[in-house]
Amino acid sequence: MLCRCGEEAVIRLKQYRRSFCSRCFVEFYENKVEGFIRKHRLLRPGERVFVAVSGGKDSASCLAVLKRLSEKFAIELSAFHINLGIGEYSRRVEEASRRLCEKLDVELEVVDVKAVYGVGVEEVAKSSRRKPCSACGIIKRYLMNKIPRELGADRLATGHNLEDTVEFFFKNWASGNYFWLSKQKPLLPSNHPKVLTKIKPLFERSEKENETYAKILNLPYEEGKCPHSVVSRWREVGEIVEERVPGFKLSIARGLEKLNIVVDAPKFKSCKVCGEPSSGDVCSFCRLIGRV
Ligand code: SF4
Ligand code: ZN
Repeated sequence: MLCRCGEEAVIRLKQYRRSFCSRCFVEFYENKVEGFIRKHRLLRPGERVFVAVSGGKDSASCLAVLKRLSEKFAIELSAFHINLGIGEYSRRVEEASRRLCEKLDVELEVVDVKAVYGVGVEEVAKSSRRKPCSACGIIKRYLMNKIPRELGADRLATGHNLEDTVEFFFKNWASGNYFWLSKQKPLLPSNHPKVLTKIKPLFERSEKENETYAKILNLPYEEGKCPHSVVSRWREVGEIVEERVPGFKLSIARGLEKLNIVVDAPKFKSCKVCGEPSSGDVCSFCRLIGRV
């Protein structure tokens, strides 16, 4: 397997009908991300962008590629990590996030849920009788908006990849949840002074591409999975079809970018406990962690 330049290839991307050596792949990956950012106007000069780093390969690649492009787009970059209090796993991903930011010379803010709120994801899930991932989702959505905003962020970048996009699409489409589907965009502009604009620069980049990029750049990341992670059947459906039709996942993502679902704008109140935007009197985070 050879790259177009004649070097030995390290990755083959069937959807692009190409194989790449390390050097050509890095160039390809960074050009793709840059083009995507320009096409969807994900960055604006002079803004402060926080990247949510989980300790995994996708957010590591997201931070690294934005760091490389930060001068071109004239943005200021910081990183943000949430220690969710999931035992040894949380310790390892926090450590990987710290090593990553040190290597890339990016300022990192860490919030330890257990230290600040007295309970971690597992305790919250048990007491609220929710699945850990459901409790975790509420906690992450809340803190990923509140903490970077309080630290002066203009927008928040996440490492959501192509497979996340496809899984999210199938899951919400199949259950007729068009409100959530309408949020599945590379750019989600702020709709409230206390809600950050969210961007997904890796919306069209596959897990395999992110992993290869992270490995070539020797980025520190944690390979182990969270003990609560489960293989989604919708993710599997995407893989099965992709096997038969290379480029299928990419076409779903591109379709979503064009999709224009009009849903009623959410009416925000202020949470009576924390003052954050909420659809009810008390926000789901405060209800979940028992602040009420
Ligand atoms: Fe949270 Fe679930 Fe992901 Fe673990 S697998 S980090 S509990 S969302
Ligand atoms: Zn609240």
